[in-house]
Amino acid sequence: MTELERKQDRAPVPSEWTYAPAPESREIVQLQDRYGHFVGGEWLEPKQTYPTISPASEEVLAEVGQATTEEVDLAVKAARAAYENGWAKLPGSERAKYLFRIARILQERSREFAVLESLNGGKPIKESRDVDLPLAAAHFFYYAGWADKLEYAFPNRTPKPVGVAGQIIPWNFPLLMLSWKIAPALACGNTVVLKPAETTPLTALLFCDVLRQAELPPGVVNIVTGDGSTGAALVKHPGVDKIAFTGSTEVGKAIQRELAGTGKKLTLELGGKAANVIFDDAALDQAVEGIVNGIYFNQGHVCCAGSRLLVQESIYETVIEKLKRRLTTLRVGDPLDKNTDVGAINSKLQLDKITELVEAGKEEGAEIYQPPCRLPEKGYWFVPTVFTNVAQSYRIAQEEIFGPVLSVLTFRTPEEAVEKANNTPYGLSAGVWTEKGSRILWMAQQLRAGVVWANTYNRFDPTSPFGGYKESGYGREGGKHGLEPYLKFDSGSNGG
Ligand code: NDP
Repeated sequence: MTELERKQDRAPVPSEWTYAPAPESREIVQLQDRYGHFVGGEWLEPKQTYPTISPASEEVLAEVGQATTEEVDLAVKAARAAYENGWAKLPGSERAKYLFRIARILQERSREFAVLESLNGGKPIKESRDVDLPLAAAHFFYYAGWADKLEYAFPNRTPKPVGVAGQIIPWNFPLLMLSWKIAPALACGNTVVLKPAETTPLTALLFCDVLRQAELPPGVVNIVTGDGSTGAALVKHPGVDKIAFTGSTEVGKAIQRELAGTGKKLTLELGGKAANVIFDDAALDQAVEGIVNGIYFNQGHVCCAGSRLLVQESIYETVIEKLKRRLTTLRVGDPLDKNTDVGAINSKLQLDKITELVEAGKEEGAEIYQPPCRLPEKGYWFVPTVFTNVAQSYRIAQEEIFGPVLSVLTFRTPEEAVEKANNTPYGLSAGVWTEKGSRILWMAQQLRAGVVWANTYNRFDPTSPFGGYKESGYGREGGKHGLEPYLKFDSGSNGG
């Protein structure tokens, strides 16, 4: 026995490495028992309310308003009054000041917002703290910069605001989607009525306090909470000039039908079933991190999630082995714990939908892998899941699961990869992993997706336009493109 072996023999080796809990304090968040609607700069006492919960513990956090048609009407009227009483005519440089203020206040209060986002939505604190909040502030900073440069963004087209924008957002990135919607609308001189998702209203309600701090004129932004019926009332309201919707393809189609022939402008950001394509010359360890980030980030509640993994056949075994090993290291649990990688599923309804599709995958003949994982007893949880032996026709390869579930398919040639990647009714995003720059460019041209990431995944930036093809919707958010839906033009096209 060598000296080293003797020492190793005596060394106390822990039987397992675990992380001590590292919970973020909730104390920074002051919740009210009951919230109304934010209309004309005032809190409107709601006629009806419902409880909003924490999906990680099922604890009731507060009662929030369920806006009726009359309450939506009051909000639209407040937005119209603010539009006509000066907001639209304010010089762009003045509007910019408000947007800069909002951006700075969001930065100052980012910890409070991050904790509340994780509490109400179930996403890990490290994501709300490091992704949602910095990006939300960045959107306000970015569009503040455009507010006084619209003439330069669209030369010789005399850009003018559209009027009152009705904005409906989902529950996967509540504050970030609010920023994507409100920042460009205000930069262009519109006023807003926004409806957050039924399950995640709290950061939008806290945002009203940011508006108060920024001294935004009353009525420029109005927030009404409620379920789909509130959203439908906003869509139908004749006083709304433009609808911006992010959510499911099904509801997007219903809104499109409703608005046909009304002359209202519409942008739709809908679902996706993105392909994440790994070629055999890719840096595999880096690609495995990209696969994990692509599908397990935000519990897979991401419209552009890399939910279909396309692996070149020659590296299939290696990638799957590395992926399974990586999955065993993911920590699922308390969203407020800074060590958590995968938080709670947003609602019971969404958990049921994921469970149903996973059962369909098993029945259709796919092979399931789930790492050993102890889930909390209360709340809504789903173990990170990988399906192999998936045929293109299976529901898990066709339908948006919107959960931490990956379907793996294989290909032999780049042409086959393109064919399979594009074989979906959606067209929101895609990923390509290869060391060849020429192949990245070729793939990006072939893939019918609004965003194509190369050797990375799920990267967002306010300067970069985001949006889809086919059933993933139309219109772009972000970048200069994101201004157009909020403008009308004297000459040339009306901006779509
Ligand atoms: P929805 O499309 O139903 O919800 C999006 C938003 O629209 C919510 O604010 C919702 O309110 C509102 N809404 C619902 N019905 C109407 C209506 N008829 N008119 C106007 N607004 C309406 O998505 P869900 O939350 O029900 O999720 C269902 C599925 O949609 C998910 O499983 C996922 O596959 C997909 N999805 C895709 C998203 C994306 O970004 N692409 C985001 C969210 C979901 P309420 O919250 O009260 O229902």
